[in-house]
Amino acid sequence: MNRDNVVEALQGIVGAANVDSEVVVRDWSPLSLKGVLDDDAGRARAVVRPGTATEVAGVVAVCRDRGVALVPIGARSGVLGGALPGGALGLDLTRLDHVGEIDRENLQITVGAGVLGGALEAQLRTEGFTLGLYPQSLELASIGGWVATRASGTYSGHYGGVEDRLLGLEVVLADGTVCEIPAMPRCSVGPDMAGLFVGSEGTLGVITAVTLAIDPLTEATLLRAVRFSTLQDGLDAIRETVQGGVHPAVVRLYDAEESAMLRATIQHEGDGCVLLLGFVGPATVAAAEEAFALEAAARHGVVDLGREPAHRWDAHRLRVPSGFRALTETGVLADYLDVQTPWSCAPRVYAAVRAALATHCDTAVAHFSHVYPQGTSIYFVVSIRAATDAEAIARHQQAWDAAMSAVVSAGGAIAHHHGVGRVRTPWADEAMGGALPIWTRVRAALDPDGVFSPAVLPASPRATDA
Ligand SMILES: Cc1cc2nc3c(=O)[nH]c(=O)nc-3n(C[C@H](O)[C@H](O)[C@H](O)COP(=O)(O)OP(=O)(O)OC[C@H]3O[C@@H](n4cnc5c(N)ncnc54)[C@H](O)[C@@H]3O)c2cc1C
Repeated sequence: MNRDNVVEALQGIVGAANVDSEVVVRDWSPLSLKGVLDDDAGRARAVVRPGTATEVAGVVAVCRDRGVALVPIGARSGVLGGALPGGALGLDLTRLDHVGEIDRENLQITVGAGVLGGALEAQLRTEGFTLGLYPQSLELASIGGWVATRASGTYSGHYGGVEDRLLGLEVVLADGTVCEIPAMPRCSVGPDMAGLFVGSEGTLGVITAVTLAIDPLTEATLLRAVRFSTLQDGLDAIRETVQGGVHPAVVRLYDAEESAMLRATIQHEGDGCVLLLGFVGPATVAAAEEAFALEAAARHGVVDLGREPAHRWDAHRLRVPSGFRALTETGVLADYLDVQTPWSCAPRVYAAVRAALATHCDTAVAHFSHVYPQGTSIYFVVSIRAATDAEAIARHQQAWDAAMSAVVSAGGAIAHHHGVGRVRTPWADEAMGGALPIWTRVRAALDPDGVFSPAVLPASPRATDA
């Protein structure tokens, strides 16, 4: 590649002020955040900030023609290093910040991929609407990033994940074609083309605009905290609730250790496993759902802790990012591992992953959230206090290796909502199982020259030379 020519060509498309040469990109993956990741992972030949889909198409065409790999970058809140360019060109999409009119009749809105979730939610709320998607990183993440990583939020039991809110999108393909996939409530013409880009992590195309469903703000939000003596009691109660046909918007069952850690925030009393529940909707519906869930909990010896602890959690839940950063600044390497499991394997997956993590981490606690009739996600929070950066990096890698092997052996799956990124790519082939041949062909067909994100997800033709 003739670097000067490429930079000059990119400047010609987006303007010189929107091209930075030789920068190191950081995201929220712990090693990157802590600054101990080697700079090669974050290094970008250049970071380009296009302002329109046409400019994105121009940049993609330059990269394809000159043989330059490209990594889409949203708001950099990813926790697995997916947005780190690794020597490729970084395509920063945060200037795609157009917010369309609220479509009140069809309950939807179209926005640029670079719009931040928190800003959009705040704007919608002033008009009486909500996106219904509340990842803890609401203020930090872009809408395009949500789609690219298959994000999910704390009220997912009612609103679903981003895949349930996505109606249509605009995407730029590797040959520079700009495709607009129309927003429809449902359409039975072929496979779900918008769905193809959900969780694609920048490997199939650059998402430039997204149409999402919105909801009117609900009449009632009922939050409740309860406590069980054992984790199994709590698991049985939430399984019986969702299998009985009631889907609380919020379900968070903490193991005894995380319940104890939670005391400082929600000020609950007593030992055991805390369950936070939330119900939204018309007041009568929310009340009936809550009564149903509490009946299931009562069959398993529940202690009602009332509404206050749950309200304290709700008030704090979006402050997690500053706590995470503060912890990192004190020298602790903190990380989150989201996995999932069918109900039949849940106790085994929990025990196996916790044991694997405990071998390499100073603390490893967990909660169960994002609950379905067929199973649940488990979210492990770990910390590593190492004497040197080298030790922290080594133990972090060992912890991931041990946890991913443990979850697969115990019958679970390696990811629920954070995606794959650079960190989980070594396990992605196996995790795709029988879908791998389809994935490999789709990726090769859409990006035959391996322009997009070669180091993320399996089977890019350029994975070895990025
Ligand atoms: C404190 C904290 C809490 C979090 N809580 C949650 C949570 O509750 N739920 C949850 O799901 N996630 C959570 N996350 C993870 C993160 O916020 C999500 O993965 C988010 O969706 C990433 O969006 P982003 O815009 O920051 O993407 P980035 O980090 O910039 O990129 C992530 C990946 O998406 C690709 N990408 C980004 N934008 C585009 C685009 N427009 N087109 C194509 N590819 C693109 C990138 O190439 C990369 O592979 C949390 C993160 C932090 C730091």
